[in-house]
This record gives sequence, C-alpha cells and structure tokens, in this order.
Amino acid sequence: MMRPSLRERVEQQRVQRAALGRTRARRTVTRRDGVRLEVDGHWLTGFCGNDYLGLGQHFAVTNALQDAASREGAGGLASHLVCGHHVLHQQLERELADWLGYPRALLFGSGFLANLAVVQALLGDEDLCVQDRLNHASLIDAARLAGCRLRRYPHADAEGALRQLRSVPDGAALLATDGVFSMDGDIAPLRELALVARVQHALLYVDDAHGVGVVGPDGRGSVAAARLGVEAVPLQLATLGKALGGYGAVVLGEAALIEHLAQSARPYLYTTALPPAQAAATLAAVKLARKDQWRRDRLAELIARLRAGAARHGFELLPSDTPIQPLLCGEDARAVAMAQALEAQGFWAAPIRPPTVPEGGARLRITLSALHTASDVDALLDALAWAREAVERGYRADAAQA
Ligand SMILES: *Cc1c(COP(=O)(O)O)cnc(C)c1O
Repeated sequence: MMRPSLRERVEQQRVQRAALGRTRARRTVTRRDGVRLEVDGHWLTGFCGNDYLGLGQHFAVTNALQDAASREGAGGLASHLVCGHHVLHQQLERELADWLGYPRALLFGSGFLANLAVVQALLGDEDLCVQDRLNHASLIDAARLAGCRLRRYPHADAEGALRQLRSVPDGAALLATDGVFSMDGDIAPLRELALVARVQHALLYVDDAHGVGVVGPDGRGSVAAARLGVEAVPLQLATLGKALGGYGAVVLGEAALIEHLAQSARPYLYTTALPPAQAAATLAAVKLARKDQWRRDRLAELIARLRAGAARHGFELLPSDTPIQPLLCGEDARAVAMAQALEAQGFWAAPIRPPTVPEGGARLRITLSALHTASDVDALLDALAWAREAVERGYRADAAQA
C-alpha cells in the first residue's frame, strides 16, 4: 500500500480553499498611529483591532516597556520555574488579582496557551468538558488535546449546557464559556450558567478575553458585570493582548487551582516566561484601565452612535453592547467585497469567514476603540452605505487584495 503524500494533500487543500474563495491573505502594516494603520502606502482608519481602550500606544505603557527593557532586557530568559520568574511578573499578577477580585493570578504566554493549560491540567480521559458552540478555537482545541469528552451546546443556551452535563453524569466536569464572544460581541448568560454549574457540580471557567477592561464595574469584565466572583467562577481568563494593549494572558482563580496550574500545566511549565518588560508595560496599562473610566464611557457613546447610525442606514448589526459590532453579510464573497469597498474609502474592517464563524455567517467584524472619534464612526457609516451600493452594482477590487 502506498503511503499518502503530505505534499499532495496540502496541494488539494490549497485548491479546495481557493475554489471556495477562502484563501486568506495577510496585509502588512508599515506604521501604526492610534487607530490609523498604514498599508500599501495608504493610511486607513482601523475598525479591526482589539485594542479597545487604546492603551497599546499610550506613552505610559510604551515608556514602561522601554524602561524595563533597558534594565532587564528584551527576552524572557527561561520558563517561570527555571529562572524566568521576575518581580515584574509578580507585581503584575498581584495587580490583576486585586483588580479582578481573585485570590491568585498566573501569567501565560498567550490566551491560547492559557486555555490549553487550564483544560489539560484539570481534565483527563474520563472527564467532561461542556462548551458553548461559539467558544473560541483555543477552548475547543484544549478539550480535544486533553482527551476528555467534549459536548457542545447551542450558543448562549444554559438549558442546553444543563442537558449536556446531565448526559454524562459520571466524570468530573468543566463548563467553559467565552465571557464576551469574540466574533459576535454578545455576552454569555453567566448567572444561568453559574446555576447550572452549581447544580451539576461542574466547575465554571470563563474566558473573558474580550470582556476584561471593557465591560463591568471598573472594567472588571463580564464575570463582575454578572455580579459573580471566585465562588461561582473559580477560574477565569483575561488576555493582555486585547483591551490591555500588550501581549500574554492571565488565569485568575482560587489559590489551590492556580497553584495546581503552576505545578502541572504543560503550557506553563515548558515555555519561556513573558519578557518582564512586557509585564511592566501591562502593569502600566492595568493602572490606566482601572482609572480611566472615560475610555469605557467613550466606547459606550461610540457603540450607541454606530448602532443608531447603522439602524438609520438599514444595516443590521448583530445584537451586541460591546466594542465588537459584527455586520452580518451571509456569503463569504459579500463579506470580502464589502471589506474591499470599505478599504477603497479608507477604512479597514476585517471580513470573517468560515471556519472562524459558522457556514453562511460571514461578516464584517467591526471593532471600536476609545481612540475613535464620533466623526470616525460617522465616516465609517457613510463608507458602509457607499460600499453596500458598490457591492450591489458588482464592485470588485483587485483580487490580490482579498
Ligand atoms: C483572542 C482570544 C484568545 C486567545 O488569546 P491570545 O492571547 O490572543 O492567544 C482566547 N480566547 C478568546 C475568547 C479570544 O478572543
């Protein structure tokens, strides 16, 4: 028997991807200035980033990064348990735990790694992981890699979660959900899920990558917004690369659970620590995120302005109160054409296609930042209206830009 060729398989998949119009192209940014991004020699107004509070280029944040880098260097040196753990990591963990109201925090190289760590460190073959259908890919992969039984429930359906937990009554169970859903912008029904977890003796884990900094009192995220804490949600994830404008992630939780991760989670043990300079930058960003309520107030105004304007123009945005404001396009080609037409008007919103979203759910993922102005939003709305007409007339930009 002939072994299949991996190169041939790759080629088949390339052809298939191209036939479906799902080949993705990276755009190369040559300069960033707040929400403006320079691409191919043109400045675009970005409605595509996750720097919701506009902290990534704040002078206090970049100064902290430069300061610490000049003293401590650019790298992470080693894993935390070898010799990579630095007092700047410790300070950041304490600041995050204090802000979010958790006993302990543990830093990770990224949110993706943190999700792998949590699920793998807790669950084995006999166990159960129950997840929302629209959870982030890293949570799904985490359960697959852990080898546990994975059951998914319809989006935001707490009763569905209950049914899935009941269907596998033996085995320890983790109920995992995004707090704010990354491609939809809506918020999980956390109070209902907490109740389900309690009656089913499951542990509730909330991945609040897009919520922390943005929603809830003092920006403490969707768990705090639901008036829940460590008792109902013994573990939660926040990323440092979104509203906090940096890179990395943190898992917050009960002290014993966090200690277990630090002792046994492979994506914690066998990877280089975040550079201390990056921790210093995020420490500065957290201080700003806690104190600058105006950034969240500005976001709320911009969200309301975008939604009201979209309704006036007859655009249907998915229901969302967060800075993630998706405009459903349906077909892949339509989402891509809309994005291209927007770019021709000087705006960048990312077309999101399957498999990142369900089939038929292609969309423009419009995201807002506290650095946008009301006139940026108004100009985007005009550009969207122009794009819709242009696409209806069969607008096609250079295919190379897809
Ligand atoms: C972005 C994201 C992650 C991954 O975080 P990174 O730090 O970018 O690896 C995990 N979960 C959700 C819901 C996300 O949106």
